[in-house]
Amino acid sequence: MASAEIGLIGLGVMGANLALNIAEHGSPIAVYNRTAETTQKFHANAGALASKVMPSTSLREFVASIRPPRPIIIMVTAGQAVDQQIATLRPLLSADDILIDAGNANFRDTVRRSQEFDGSGLAFMGIGVSGGEEGARHGPSIMAGGTRKSYARVERVLTGIAAKYKSDPCCAWLGEGGAGHFVKTIHNGIEYADMQMIAEIYGILRDGLGLEPAAIGEIFARWNKGRLDSYLIEVTAAVLAAKDSATGKPAVDVILDRAGQKGTGRWSVIEAQNLGVPAMAIEAAVAARNLSALKVERQAADKIYGIAPARLAASDRTALIAQLELALYAGKLSAYAQGFAVMEAASREFSWSLPMATIARIWRAGCIIRSQFLDAIASAFPESERLSNLLVAPEFVARMKESVPSLRKTVAEAASAGLPVPALSASLAYFDSYRQGRGTANLIQAQRDFFGAHGFERVDQSGAHHGPWHAAG
Ligand code: NAP
Repeated sequence: MASAEIGLIGLGVMGANLALNIAEHGSPIAVYNRTAETTQKFHANAGALASKVMPSTSLREFVASIRPPRPIIIMVTAGQAVDQQIATLRPLLSADDILIDAGNANFRDTVRRSQEFDGSGLAFMGIGVSGGEEGARHGPSIMAGGTRKSYARVERVLTGIAAKYKSDPCCAWLGEGGAGHFVKTIHNGIEYADMQMIAEIYGILRDGLGLEPAAIGEIFARWNKGRLDSYLIEVTAAVLAAKDSATGKPAVDVILDRAGQKGTGRWSVIEAQNLGVPAMAIEAAVAARNLSALKVERQAADKIYGIAPARLAASDRTALIAQLELALYAGKLSAYAQGFAVMEAASREFSWSLPMATIARIWRAGCIIRSQFLDAIASAFPESERLSNLLVAPEFVARMKESVPSLRKTVAEAASAGLPVPALSASLAYFDSYRQGRGTANLIQAQRDFFGAHGFERVDQSGAHHGPWHAAG
């Protein structure tokens, strides 16, 4: 009876595909879903893989069908559902079983759940899985957290099902507790920034140049063969080329301009703020999605303020399109630098020693932000020391120097025309602020001291000081 090597609970979009992927890679797998009908349908549709899949309609039967000590993946809706599933499963487990939450958990929940398993003889792992439905079925990027010992027990199965970049599996152990889910969260934050900057460039091409979706799609398809080569650019080219079957119009033109979000972008921003690390492009991207939700308000404001944006004055359209390509590239470099800086700070705060080059390597395939560009990031990290910010890595410096002028020009021209580019301008502002040896916070310190006697440091003396503000009064 106990013949499965691994178990999986939750046969929704991700779980069903992950289960088939595991079965295809040779591991007999036990599956269970809260709604039994889904389990039966899943098994009936598993085709040639059905013999590798052991369906159960009761949790007890499910647990009994896995060889102990059991690794069990939970792939259910993030949040309370995970706690509920753990609560019903836990009494059925025995020594050394490992529970693996593979959903998009908040890493703080993963830390709490790991602690709840401490000293129980059972283990808990939180792993981030990226790549959506397609990735889950044919090779996701897997960011594993938990003890090294637990990871060693499931490494063969996880690396087997993970995406491969050339022949490297996009799967790695990143650290204890919530490390895997934290990295997955920041992955999603970077994804938000990447998508928003692409949308802003689309906006410039649509509203600033008056191009039709198909023409914009061709530009993105061309860019996908160059420095911007990535899954998100490929997706953008494909959606811009698609037609709506009901109306024959470009599909993108019949889609309401109101973006959804499930929370990982927001978590990235909250954690960046908790750590005191600026992540301006990610913050701008989350804010832009929030603003997109205000459709009715935006339409009312549009009526009050009149037509915006204006067309760009582009005498040389080819040169402008080349400028936009470089601008997007610079924005991306800055946004990735921000995301990695957040992870570096978290690594220190939570004593994880996150392996940054490895993180970049396991994002090269399988995940939504996959791109060759991550190869450059991986090689930018020095082998032996920590790097506080990618912007100072020699790999990055040359690329930034080449591309920032185009970003600056694009942000300036877009602002003049009334074209909103919040994430691109945040990426630029981050770069300009980060590279400014003498900033303007001296004035902020003076203001704080003036109204709150908070004190300040002097440039020429140590210790805390107060200003002469009230003395003369
Ligand atoms: P989904 O298709 O909506 O499926 C949800 C699954 O959770 C179903 O099997 C459902 O069972 C189960 N479930 C819900 N509440 C439950 C409860 N209280 N107790 C037990 N089972 C419960 O979701 P999904 O897209 O596969 O997502 C699963 C996880 O993967 C989430 O954490 C999600 O954020 C993450 N993720 C999703 C994607 C994606 O592209 N979809 C990508 C990466 C990560 P029933 O059939 O009984 O309702």
